[in-house]
Amino acid sequence: LNYRATSFLISAARFDQCPPATGREVAFAGRSNAGKSSALNALTGSNKLARTSKTPGRTQLINFFTINNGEHKLVDLPGYGFAKVPEAMKLEWQKELGTYLEERPNLVGVVLLVDIRHPLKEFDEMMIDWAITSGMPLHILLTKSDKLKFGAAKAALQKLRNQLRDHKDLITVQLFSSLNKVGIDELSAQLDHWYLA
Ligand code: GDP
Repeated sequence: LNYRATSFLISAARFDQCPPATGREVAFAGRSNAGKSSALNALTGSNKLARTSKTPGRTQLINFFTINNGEHKLVDLPGYGFAKVPEAMKLEWQKELGTYLEERPNLVGVVLLVDIRHPLKEFDEMMIDWAITSGMPLHILLTKSDKLKFGAAKAALQKLRNQLRDHKDLITVQLFSSLNKVGIDELSAQLDHWYLA
């Protein structure tokens, strides 16, 4: 599919505001600052696609985009773990995220972005456990791989793959760098597999 022909559809503040679940849907998730906006921009070739609306305290929105002339959807889930947001808002958002992941009928896969220098924080572990229990395919991007020397990046990739080796059919891992444009083809191939298989 041509991920450069992605266009914004709608934002939802709550699960019940999600657009109709037509076509297939892939969601991008990650802790704040993991590099999600940069990765979406690198994938789609647009600088404006994932608006970096990360002002603390602002309503966190689930952003929907359409691909392939509206046939399928790509979803940008709000970054998790943003600082300075009231606890009640964090809990509210956690609930909406949980509902989205559990209830969205056309969700076929989740891309989890993890900063290669800070692998598997609590949120990441939670997403992995959820993927395993629900059987939802998960593709992990070890982002900002340019921050490590090539050997160290490869070692980090191998270590995580090894850690998840019992779930090879469900969970895949790759290196990614928006800065150096590393891993875009591999990500596109995974998305094609989910959207078209
Ligand atoms: P988000 O909060 O997950 O959407 O993260 P952003 O995409 O806004 O990126 C967070 C910070 O990491 C920004 O300062 C980016 O410039 C930086 N960043 C994102 N991707 C990369 C990358 O591939 N390499 C490097 N070196 N920095 C990156």
